[in-house]
Amino acid sequence: MNTLLYVVSALTVMFTVLAIPVALAFAVHSRTEYDHGPDCWFCHPRLPRIRR
Ligand SMILES: [Zn+2]
Repeated sequence: MNTLLYVVSALTVMFTVLAIPVALAFAVHSRTEYDHGPDCWFCHPRLPRIRR
């Protein structure tokens, strides 16, 4: 049971840690209207290796 609790706790912490920068990026983009350029993965969601 301790293992299950540890896994659930670890996943929750990991999700929280990953959600913080995503929330900050979303907040920043919601406050700005200009394009951040083709290098911005948030404005142009694609893999960095893929180039058209
Ligand atoms: Zn952007």
